[in-house]
Amino acid sequence: MSVLTSEAVVLRTWPVHEADLLVSFFTRDYGRLKGMAKAALKSRKRFGGALEPMTLARAWFAERPRQELVRLDQLEILRSPLSAPVDQTRMAVLSFYAEVIDEALPERDPQETVFRLLASVLEQTSSLKPDTEQPQSSGPQFSGPWMALTYFSLWMTRLMGLLPDIGHCMTCGDSLGAGEVRFNAYADGLFCGVHANGSGSALSADSWQLAQRMLRAPAASFAREAWPRKRGQDLRRFTVQMLERHLERKLKTAEALARLGG
Ligand SMILES: [Zn+2]
Repeated sequence: MSVLTSEAVVLRTWPVHEADLLVSFFTRDYGRLKGMAKAALKSRKRFGGALEPMTLARAWFAERPRQELVRLDQLEILRSPLSAPVDQTRMAVLSFYAEVIDEALPERDPQETVFRLLASVLEQTSSLKPDTEQPQSSGPQFSGPWMALTYFSLWMTRLMGLLPDIGHCMTCGDSLGAGEVRFNAYADGLFCGVHANGSGSALSADSWQLAQRMLRAPAASFAREAWPRKRGQDLRRFTVQMLERHLERKLKTAEALARLGG
């Protein structure tokens, strides 16, 4: 039984038996896995604080013959979400990443691009100040977790193959113009004013332009933009609706974020 190693992000843990933990984790090289971490709650040496959800770690694990669960031997922290101040918004955003990855990706299906997306938004979520009203005079602006959340939701729809061309109306194919872009809960993509079907919501000019920029640039390039929580709210609603429609369930963490005004 050979021991494998990969960078990984811890998604969720469940206690089993006395000190054992069942761990869902997303590895760069082997995809999402479930493993048993024996005596994890007793072994600071093998796991330290690395079992905190959304920790980026190096993982050592082994396949077990005729077993669905791998044996998770050790985690070594590369970046902990606890290294930044923990506030309610940031925790809710981190939980959203965990739920989406856990629900959207099949087990043992390597998705390197999704892994890189997750690592980059984790960095943006944890390294920045939370979204408070920042006075203009306080020097550089920090975009905070709402930017990272917006970027992640948009890119997950793209990487899951759900996001059609956002430059054109899904019905007539005409080029869309800022300010006349609409979406609805029943279909993917965006619509012009004529084909919005009445039931739609508007996607603001800022959000539509933001989406186009985000699909061309890394998350880090938005880090210095001012980002009050309302910014991109309609874009997040558009992408979360698409994710939920395709996953065929409501995301619990999306409700929590909505309660926080996101
Ligand atoms: Zn149209």
